[in-house]
This record gives sequence, C-alpha cells and structure tokens, in this order.
Amino acid sequence: MNKPFAEAALLINATESIVLAAHVQPDGDAFGSLLAMATCLKQTGKNVCSTWGEEIRIPPQYQWMPGIDTVVDCRQCTEGDLLITLDCANERRLGMMESSLPGFKSIINIDHHVDNSNFGTINILDFYASATAEIVYQLLRFMNADIDSDVATLLYAGIVTDTGRFQYQNTTAQTLRIATELVEFGVIPNNIFHKIYENLSFSTLKLLARVLDRAKYIAESKLIYSYTLNGDLKETGADMGDTENFIDYLRMAKESNVAAIFKEVPGAGLRVSLRSKGSIDVGAIAREKSGGGHRNAAGATLNIPIADAVEWLSTRIIAQTSASISINE
Ligand code: 5GP
Ligand code: MN
Repeated sequence: MNKPFAEAALLINATESIVLAAHVQPDGDAFGSLLAMATCLKQTGKNVCSTWGEEIRIPPQYQWMPGIDTVVDCRQCTEGDLLITLDCANERRLGMMESSLPGFKSIINIDHHVDNSNFGTINILDFYASATAEIVYQLLRFMNADIDSDVATLLYAGIVTDTGRFQYQNTTAQTLRIATELVEFGVIPNNIFHKIYENLSFSTLKLLARVLDRAKYIAESKLIYSYTLNGDLKETGADMGDTENFIDYLRMAKESNVAAIFKEVPGAGLRVSLRSKGSIDVGAIAREKSGGGHRNAAGATLNIPIADAVEWLSTRIIAQTSASISINE
C-alpha cells in the first residue's frame, strides 16, 4: 500500500495545466473519479483536460454526471507537465493515450487494482479501496479541496457502482464511512440509484431478456455465462454501454461461482466480463489473456470464438478449484 498524498499534492499545486485520463470503456468509478478530480482542480484555477483514450461515448446511465459535458477528445490532450490517470491498472488501459505518455513530464497514477504496474512517476495505490473514488476522496480531503454536493455525488457514484451498491466483497467499514461522509456533503443516494440503475431503455430491457434466455450453466465449473452478438444491438436498438450491469443478473443465480458475459464488439474482438463469488480469482484468469482486474471482478478482450472462450474459461476455473482443493487437503 502506497499513498504518497503529500508528494502528489505538491506536484499538483505546482502545475498549471493538468490532463486527467480514465481507462477506456469507462465505468462508474472511472467517470466519478475523473470528474470529481477535474471539478476540484478547476475550482483552484487549474487548466484541466479530462479524457480517455478512445472515441468519446457516454453510456446513458452516466450522462447526468456533473461536468460530463467538459470531457474532450484525447487527441486534444497529448502532452503537458502532468498527467493524472484514474482507475487504470496499466498503460494499455489508457487506449489511444498510451502512445502520448512520453509527452508528459510526470504521471500520477491513482488506482486500486492489485495488478497495477506502477507506471506513474508517483503511484497512489490502495488495493483495499473498493473504488478509485475512495482514494480520490482521501486525496481531495488531504488537499483541503472544496467537496461540494456535485463532487460528493461523483465520488459516491464511483463507489456505489464498483461495490455493486455496497454488496460486493470489496465493501469495507472504510467504504461505508466514506459513503456516510459523502452523504453529509450533500449526496442523495436515491437520486443516484435512480439515475444509474433505473435508467435502462425499454430496448435494453429486451436485450437483457435475450441474454437471460441464452444463459447456460456448466455444472463442473459452476460457471453461468451468456453473450451479446453484434446483431443484437441492431435488432433491439440497445447500445453496448447499456449492457454494463447485465453480468449482475447472471451472478444472482445461487448455482454460479463464476458469471461471465461475452460481448461481440464491432471491430474490437470479443470482450468478456467476469465475476466470481468466494475464492476463484477471475483477475488471474483474465491476465492469462492480457486482461486484468480484481479477484472477484475482471475483464479481457479475446480473439477467439465464444464457444472456445467458454471452454477455456471453464477449464481455468476447474484448474483453480482443484489447485485450491489440493492445497486445503
Ligand atoms: P468490467 O467487467 O466491468 O468491464 O471490468 C471489471 C474489472 O476488470 C474492472 O475493475 C476493470 O477495470 C477490469 N478490467 C476489465 N477489462 C480489463 C482489461 O482488459 N484489462 C485490465 N487490466 N483490466 C480490465
Ligand atoms: Mn475501479
């Protein structure tokens, strides 16, 4: 654990123009951390560029976020004195921004992934934080930033999404303490729940019906999986960004130890999202295919057909299960 807040604060205070970047295909934590940091830095008169390394597209459940309209295309922020990365485990997660890294004098890498590669000049890492937003909150408090209700709302949104609404294993006393403080700073939890979780379009609901209808259970590996195909998006009118929480429905089945959703992404192979309950380390499995993530939540991009991906995944889960059985014997 490494939280050099003082060093980071000094560097931030001494820098006029700062680029902030979240990981590609940003989730609630990436958006919340990025925009909260941007808002506070702007309040102190900094010139801030907030971005991530792919075409800017904002999923409907995050379009309401304060400051979302200030995000700019990453091609406008390719150099500067300081880059702050948020929720990025490694340089690859920066997408198109990766090739711009040499253009920055310093990098502050703020993240909570166990497999973070320490690519920053300053690395602010906390593997016990449920969300990068927890770390950003602590840094902002350390810097005496003005946490108004917008900033609090952004950070709360980051925490609520990365903890599965305070239900995943990463939820700690500190998570709940920070959430309490954020509510004291003006967050209305029900508003955020409504905007993020009751914001599905009807076409997305119909796509969810397809995904649940296709779900399969493999008893040997206790794996429940399903998939979306390119054609689904066209046929239902749903958007890829709308499918972020589908995995949560698959993991609800008591039979599942691991839930997986495979998504055909036009021009970008097959994305897989993985969730596990208990001891199966899906982060380790995802890393075998150049992906990554946490023990219980991970993802990767695969270049194989869905059937082969299922076979691979099931085999790797069984291998981990038998390894842990033999250790415990
Ligand atoms: P999701 O399934 O929601 O896309 O991602 C779950 C977790 O795995 C998140 O913490 C996310 O940052 C991480 N993750 C997803 N895909 C990748 C990937 O391709 N590489 C790495 N390093 N982490 C990933
Ligand atoms: Mn995160």
